Amino acid sequence: MHKTDLDLPLSNLVINMEESATIAMAQLARDVAAEGNDVISLTLGEPDFDTPEHIKEAAKQALDDGYTKYTPVPGLPELRKAIVTKFKRDNGLDFEMNQIMVSNGAKQVIANICIALLNKGDEVLIFAPFWVSYKAIVEMHGGVAVPVYAGIEQDFKPTPEQVAAAITDKTKLVIFSSPCNPTGSVFSKDEMHALAEVFDKHKNLIIISDEIYEYINFIEEGHFSLGSIECMKDQVVTVNGFAKGFAMTGWRLGYMGGPDWLVKACSKIQGQFTSGANSFGQKAASIALLSDLTPSYKMRDAFQKRRELVIDAMNKIPGMKLNYPKGAFYVFPDVSHFYGKRSDEGFAINNSVDFCEYLLRKAFVGSVPGVAFGAPNNIRLSYAASDEKLTEAMNRIKEVCSKLS
Ligand code: PMP
Ligand code: GLU
Repeated sequence: MHKTDLDLPLSNLVINMEESATIAMAQLARDVAAEGNDVISLTLGEPDFDTPEHIKEAAKQALDDGYTKYTPVPGLPELRKAIVTKFKRDNGLDFEMNQIMVSNGAKQVIANICIALLNKGDEVLIFAPFWVSYKAIVEMHGGVAVPVYAGIEQDFKPTPEQVAAAITDKTKLVIFSSPCNPTGSVFSKDEMHALAEVFDKHKNLIIISDEIYEYINFIEEGHFSLGSIECMKDQVVTVNGFAKGFAMTGWRLGYMGGPDWLVKACSKIQGQFTSGANSFGQKAASIALLSDLTPSYKMRDAFQKRRELVIDAMNKIPGMKLNYPKGAFYVFPDVSHFYGKRSDEGFAINNSVDFCEYLLRKAFVGSVPGVAFGAPNNIRLSYAASDEKLTEAMNRIKEVCSKLS
């Protein structure tokens, strides 16, 4: 008989930890496909493009050149140097090498920072809707996640007043992403300045600005980094990575730029957990950052076209309520109109988990319930898939929604 977690000698930490909903839903979609169904999985936030050729070639060359050994824990010097150049070039951020650290994905960067900063009971403001792992990582390290929620009517962006009201004596850290996973919302330069005014009044706060979708930004004024505002210099940790903008999810490479004392602490932590990230990947990543970014911008343009396709189609489904995402590759419709309804076969929809299950079982379309992102009225669909798949998925969703009453 299968034992429950409680019968096993597992730690309270792992028993109390939530499984990543994005990863769980992606696996469920694979399982349903393995049963012989034609599943279109719009679950994972993963570009469907391959890593650009010149980056792959650089990794192959690095292997031939002997980049097969341990690297310094905070990263290969040449990659850290390339990151310094990139931060200056793209973001107006001035860092020294000792303010840069490379990890096994942006996920590990965020985990390192949380381990480095949080004591039990410290509060962490998380702009909500949030990426699922922020909350889990914070809670795993003794922090108290405090969502600062903004609904669809404010384009899912908390106002400075909301943020100010959520800060207490116990607040130590703030985490947000722009462009945002899961909503696609982007904070403008003016909005960033307004947030900076609030943070400037609390100099003991550290802010994680997660900019992993930087290159997938559709607004004309372009990407803006909170850390580039003069008064934010010592408070902001800018997190980025290679997964999204360079289609390098499997390479597991992310990085941070921030105060040197925090980088030093993160390096100490990473030295005990995983050591430096993989050597030949880092070599190729430095080439990625310093090369012409046209391949990244071509992917962005493709995502932008798909956004139109998906938004147009979703807006034609009665009951769906959408914002107009300005970046990343997600739509985050409010599907609460369907709560309390049933399909003609008796499938009852009472929440976002039911709705995603209904889409997966009846339309064979994989999505992720909004409840995992702190938004129980919504679901997330990734449009990092081909036009054909997206068109087919939208048709199927429309069809099964029409059967709910
Ligand atoms: N931040 C956000 C907002 C994300 O969506 C993701 C998911 N890729 C990450 C961080 C983690 O990225 P990585 O794959 O580099 O660990
Ligand atoms: N970040 C991506 C997502 O949100 C990849 C999966 C994960 O790490 O959560 O789907």
